[in-house]
Amino acid sequence: MIRVFKFGGALLKDAEGIERMVSIVEEFKCEPLVVVVSAIGKTTNALENLLLLAMTNDKNLASEYFSLKSFHINLIQSLPHVNHSELITEVEELFRDLWDALNNKNDNYYFAYDRIVSFGEKISGKIVATRLSAKKLIVEAFPAQTIIATNSNFTNASVDWKKTRYNISTYLFPLLHDGKIIVTEGFVGSNENGDTTTLGREGSDFTAAIIGTILKADEIVIWKDVPGLMNADPKLFDDAVKLDNISYHEAIELAFYGASVIHPKTIQPLQKNNLTLQVRSFWEPHTTPSLISDNTLEDDNVPKIIVKKNQTLLSISSRNMDFIGEENLFLIFKIFNKHKIHINLMQNSVISFSVCFNSDVKNQEVLMEALSKLFYVKYNTGLTLLTLRHYNKAFLAKHTSNKKVLLEQKNRTTAQFLGNF
Ligand code: ASP
Ligand code: MG
Repeated sequence: MIRVFKFGGALLKDAEGIERMVSIVEEFKCEPLVVVVSAIGKTTNALENLLLLAMTNDKNLASEYFSLKSFHINLIQSLPHVNHSELITEVEELFRDLWDALNNKNDNYYFAYDRIVSFGEKISGKIVATRLSAKKLIVEAFPAQTIIATNSNFTNASVDWKKTRYNISTYLFPLLHDGKIIVTEGFVGSNENGDTTTLGREGSDFTAAIIGTILKADEIVIWKDVPGLMNADPKLFDDAVKLDNISYHEAIELAFYGASVIHPKTIQPLQKNNLTLQVRSFWEPHTTPSLISDNTLEDDNVPKIIVKKNQTLLSISSRNMDFIGEENLFLIFKIFNKHKIHINLMQNSVISFSVCFNSDVKNQEVLMEALSKLFYVKYNTGLTLLTLRHYNKAFLAKHTSNKKVLLEQKNRTTAQFLGNF
């Protein structure tokens, strides 16, 4: 039985989480296992921030860098059974490389982003592999850059499946067969020049799916700090329930509407190869996992709700009471496309067109500037978009009664409400 496990950074943020990961890995050590890790805690955000500080010559760069470094060093010091000074020396070396990268100003932004942000996974990979080895597990830390081959689309690189397949079968497969547990970094890859690339935010799950697909793994598991896939965010709804089975299609739909389930990119290779993805509870590892597969039977069993906060509603109308017809819509979409602003909801009426998207001061400014040359534009900010999938009457009433809705849209499976909730 070949397994690929992915542990997210939120799970590894302290010694308790790391020890839990160790006990899970130990339980499965007798069969081929690949462990994919992502950056610890909020490290990816912190690294993005360091890059920004470096680019703007901000005086806080050094202090922010040191605080990220101390966070990791403190974590190492809290781990049992590892040789602390040895691991700290190795991690400090990675931090020195990070510092050099931050101070190398010649780089193009996207190139620098991948080089810098990938340190999060490199550091967590080192810590996890060292901790597992200290448990006398036979571990091989295998850099993702030697496995995941990509093109040069820095920050959102596409996988070169042919080369990646070659790398995995040539280098990784024999190690697995020798009984080694492979630890590798999620999210990270490299282009044909050996430059570091990344697969896009939240890309670690995708790495697990790539490796799992190529190895034809029997189990691909994403460990999470919730009981499995839920019908609502348990932080917002205390009556959230676990979904036992959902289809690939439903998972992609939920992700599209903003549920932080699994990125659609992750689902695609699994769907193509008909591999099931398990989402399992990190804290209660023996409970039944949620399964994402081609099984559509339970998709409409449980209504689901997705809350997207911080939305802007833009209402666009013509300056001379003309209809908003195809020609105008074409111009409007062109502007959204040019500025890479994703539309979450839209509605057309005779003389106006309404669009909802994630609020962002920059987005608002560029849109206002581009659109107000041609149209009258009004906007509301700070709104919330509720999406209800497979809703029923009671579920609709529960989540929308007494709410002042600005825009509403319904079809057979999905109802959306935008308002000031
Ligand atoms: N560390 C990366 C991120 O936070 C990748 C991942 O966690 O999946 O986006
Ligand atoms: Mg992460």
